[in-house]
Amino acid sequence: MRVGVIGTGRVGLVVGACLSNQGHAVVCHDRDEEKIARLETGQTPFFEPGLDALVSQGMATGRLSFSGRLEDAVRTAEVIFICVGTPLDGVGSLDLSAVTSVAARIAPLIQDYTVVLLKSTVPVGTAMMVKQAIRERAGEGLEFDVVSMPEFLREGAAVEDFRHPDRLVIGCDSARAEARVLELLGEISCPLIVTRHREAELIKQVSNCFLAVKLSFANTVAAVCERVGVDVTAIMRGVGADPRIGSTYLNVGMGYGGSCLPKDMEAFIDFARRLGCSVDLLAAAQEVNSAQTERVIQKLREELETVEGRTIGLMGLAFKPHTDTLVAAPSLALVRRLRAEGARLRVFDPVAMDAAFSVLGREVEYASDEYDLCRGCEALVLVTEWPQFANLDLARLKASLRSPVLIDGRNFFDPTTMAALGFRYRGAGRGYADAQAPAELPAAWRLPHLERGDDVVGGKSKHAG
Ligand code: NAD
Repeated sequence: MRVGVIGTGRVGLVVGACLSNQGHAVVCHDRDEEKIARLETGQTPFFEPGLDALVSQGMATGRLSFSGRLEDAVRTAEVIFICVGTPLDGVGSLDLSAVTSVAARIAPLIQDYTVVLLKSTVPVGTAMMVKQAIRERAGEGLEFDVVSMPEFLREGAAVEDFRHPDRLVIGCDSARAEARVLELLGEISCPLIVTRHREAELIKQVSNCFLAVKLSFANTVAAVCERVGVDVTAIMRGVGADPRIGSTYLNVGMGYGGSCLPKDMEAFIDFARRLGCSVDLLAAAQEVNSAQTERVIQKLREELETVEGRTIGLMGLAFKPHTDTLVAAPSLALVRRLRAEGARLRVFDPVAMDAAFSVLGREVEYASDEYDLCRGCEALVLVTEWPQFANLDLARLKASLRSPVLIDGRNFFDPTTMAALGFRYRGAGRGYADAQAPAELPAAWRLPHLERGDDVVGGKSKHAG
């Protein structure tokens, strides 16, 4: 099938490269001419595992091409993907100007029946708006349909997710369009949800809100675990084993970031508020997420007395492993807060160093590797759980630090091993190691009925209800 992709970013490029790999003829367009020029020479503009190879294969077969001219991606396409950005507009809503501008500009270029497929994350009603914008500017009698097909890929696993999605959502009001999209997709081996536009649009935003709430729930529990001397990772293993809950997105630590969860939460909260609906739960989840940076800084203060004048190393900067994205990354919040308190910062990330330099410039010192990072540092904070950190020589790491303080923002390391190596280790939601556990029960978790000396009969208080 002939496919046009408009917006060759993290979603559009993956979509284009994967579809060309499946045998379709794909032309990708972007308004960023520099990006297109780099892609034409085979350079992908960001890090995504497996993508470079797919792009070069697609180009070599002639099935994948790039163009700065919109008409090249539109004129002969049977399906046009809109994958442009929908950032926040500064007052809580999503800025749909790129989506509406693309709709208006493709309208006069479409010739035969075409499906315009919305991949960008958009609020309820956008597909209808796009349909109207095309209708108003299209030639007399033009046949086209708009399909809402939100994208669920995860940065860092985008190619894999595109090839093996956990579900596909098609929002559509035309059997002809549905048939064309199904023909494009080929064999489908995951749940397929065919629904109306507005439901498809909401499924995407609501999914991300749920994930954000789940992570903030785990971080709320983590704070309690720290006080009662238990390890939240054990708790979440037990909780997540319940299939009604599920084990993913219960990992605690620095909180969520990236270009999707924070933005989609903000936009959905704004949308729900404008409808007069309560958003207390979601707003609380946002608050919990922002508080995670302070929790790390508090641990640094406890270990170092003050962070002012201290040299602190940040290991990992990307908002999660396998990506170089720094959008809303917890590392940036940490840098800003620690710098404001007078700390000196050294940083290292396996792939996000260029991205970091373009955001942080000379505000921080850039290390060449993990050991270099530790030089002169009074504390190390693990911010991103890159798998390569599991292969570090921990004794050498400790020897490179000026004082052996390790704040593990992702519960990546084993507390017992770290304590045995002589680190002053602080995880997230990991109560004191056995050696530090107080001999007496802390007052907060004494049981009131036992404190009162109530009779306990057969293991139960006689006052128990
Ligand atoms: P991105 O910023 O990486 O890419 C967007 C691209 O669109 C950019 O290259 C930009 O130059 C281009 N663009 C903007 N306006 C244009 C126009 N008028 N004409 C042509 N090109 C234009 O964004 P992304 O991460 O690929 O996200 C795209 C959409 O997909 C967003 O709505 C996002 O919320 C959603 N999404 C993103 C992810 C993700 O993990 N990044 C996952 C699912 C959904």
